[in-house]
This record gives sequence, C-alpha cells and structure tokens, in this order.
Amino acid sequence: MSTGDVAVGILRRIAAEPVTRSVLAKETGLAPSTVSAKITELMDAGLVQEGGAAPSRGGRPGRLLSISYTSGRIAVISMGAKHARLGLADFSRTILCSSAIDIDVADGPERTVELLANEVRALLERDGGDLLSVGICLPGPVDAVRRVVVAPSRMPGWHNQDVGALLEKQLGVPAITDNDANMAALGEYLSRADAAANSITVLAGTGVGTGIIAGGELYRGSTYASGDITHTKVEAAADRMCTCGNRGCLETIASGAAIVRDLNQSGIKVGDIFEVLDMVRDGDPTANGAIREAGRQLGLALSTVVNFFNPGDVYLTGALSAASVYVAAVRSQLYERCLPLATAGLRVEAAQAGGEAGMIGAAELAIIHLLNQPGLPARFTEPAE
Ligand SMILES: [Zn+2]
Repeated sequence: MSTGDVAVGILRRIAAEPVTRSVLAKETGLAPSTVSAKITELMDAGLVQEGGAAPSRGGRPGRLLSISYTSGRIAVISMGAKHARLGLADFSRTILCSSAIDIDVADGPERTVELLANEVRALLERDGGDLLSVGICLPGPVDAVRRVVVAPSRMPGWHNQDVGALLEKQLGVPAITDNDANMAALGEYLSRADAAANSITVLAGTGVGTGIIAGGELYRGSTYASGDITHTKVEAAADRMCTCGNRGCLETIASGAAIVRDLNQSGIKVGDIFEVLDMVRDGDPTANGAIREAGRQLGLALSTVVNFFNPGDVYLTGALSAASVYVAAVRSQLYERCLPLATAGLRVEAAQAGGEAGMIGAAELAIIHLLNQPGLPARFTEPAE
C-alpha cells in the first residue's frame, strides 16, 4: 500500500464521521505512530482538524478528528463517445451535484477536454467549492501510470494522448485517468457494504467492457488490457466486421451500438440505445427480444470468465443494465453454463451505484492521486478569509 493509500483510507474514515486516533489505529490495524504521523500530515495540509474530546470510556479521552477542508471538491467525469456525465464529489466520494453534456470523441482530445473543463468550471460556479483534483473515466484502454489512452478502437486521434495532462493544463489541479469499466468496478465495490472481495463489473453501453476487482484491489493487467471482453470472438457474430478491425467480436452483436444498428436494418428506426430501452419499457416485443439476446450473448462469453476467475459477484452497469430482461438473461446463461462450484453463492445483479459507479471510482482514484502529490501541505491549506 502506498503512503497515499494509507492517507486516503484515514481521510475516508474521517469523512464518514469524526473519530479519534485510537479508533483509527484499531480499525486500520496500523501502528498508532503511523496513524499519528498520517494525521499530522493531513492536518498540516489543512484537510483534517482536531475538535472536542470524544466521550471517555475510561482512561484519557482522545480528540475527535474531522474534515476541515469541507469546501474541497473532486471533479469526476464519465466520458462516452457522444456524451459525458460530470460531477463534483467531496472527500467521502459523495457526488454532490452532476450534469451531462454532448461531446464527440471524433473532435479529438484537445477540443473534448476543453469542453469538459468548461463544464467543470460551470459546476463549480453553480455549486461552489474549491477544486482540488479531477478524475476522468475514458471509454478505451488506459495506461494508468503514463495516463495515456492506448490503441482505443472507438477513439480515433486519442492514441498515446495524455488526457490527464490536458485536464491539468485546463483546470490547474492534479488529474487522474483510467478506463471507464475499471472505475465503475472500483466505484461499485466501494459503494456496497456487502461487496465480494472478487468481482467482475460489466459496463454495457455502446461497447462492452469489464472491470476486475481481485482481493479487494482493482486489477488492471500487465498492459492495462484486462477485462476486454468486447473483442472476444463469439460464434453468433460470425464474420461481422468490428470497430477493432477484426471480425466476429462480441461487440458486433451484444453492444448498444450493435442493437441499434440491427433494429434499424430490420426497419425499426431508433436513434440510440436509450430509445431502445424506452421501447422495452413500453413492452415492445422486438426491442425486448434484442436486449434479451444481447444479455444471452454476454452471459455466454462471460461464463468462461466466471469459471476461470470464480468471482463472488458479477455487477452489471451501463445503459443496458437498466433493463431487467438484460440482467435476467446474463444471470440465466451464467447459471446454466458455469460449474456448480463457480455459481454457488454467485450474485449477478445490476450495480447498486447505477450510473454513478464510474464517477465514484474516479473520485476515489483522484483523492488517492491528490494525497500522493508532493508538496501537499503548501497547496491545499484552506485559504484565509
Ligand atoms: Zn473487435
């Protein structure tokens, strides 16, 4: 665990409710001296303050620690190919306000990041607060150390671009980037009190991505390509051309984009996947069948992964997860095709954090990134009135 991770754990606990040093030491299992040193660092940075004495249970009462920089904000951005959701979070990763804007990844990183930064500024103007850090979920593979997008199939012009640096230039605060499914997996894991230590989160929207939590940690793979189920070859996709340049990928039959295309080709005019979901809600049998088949195909592809990885939970998020027929189709395929040992106790559910999962994960990574910055004390002390 890095020093920033220890600090963020402590900060998160204090953000939930005021606690004493001894409670923190007991709960984290860290040495009291380590906890004290971290608290001093956070107090020097102006993030944490010491308040009144805690109710005594015998012995010397400890002082309660609370968040002092209550106006500190973390900007979180969940970016798709055509839309972006943005929000401001506090240190407990609560999304305090949010908005959505239309973008087009085809405009390239510079223009897109400029639009996103303008919207962050608008949110700050409307809701108040001091921006400390920003986290962005990107719809493609991201090298989380170099912060660059790597060979994204649906983001022409974004390869090797440091989106974090562009955001830092625009907003003047540290920025962190990661893949959208990774951040959704982390956000859902952190949001659930009963989360399994090993889980797979499927982000099913325009494409299909998965994020992996192994032993309570986000698993990114050796080259940040983990969880790429969207380009798995599936029989039913035959030789359909995929955005990655190959043929027969899951994406060509089970993604939101594929469903929209197929319905249009069969003469049912729909603009996007949200229109299809509206039709499902209205009981349209064709739309219902298309969504169920997408869920069935995902479940089929995912069954190999579940047998191999043996997760405790599979969470479904993204636009398609809003349809219960989709969740049910994935679940029934997994139960039918996986080994009984792999499905004993396996939960397959729509994500509890819903559409906010990615933003919550982004907030967590942005807070860790912030606390790992050198020169923390000078930068984040609350400005004097
Ligand atoms: Zn593909």
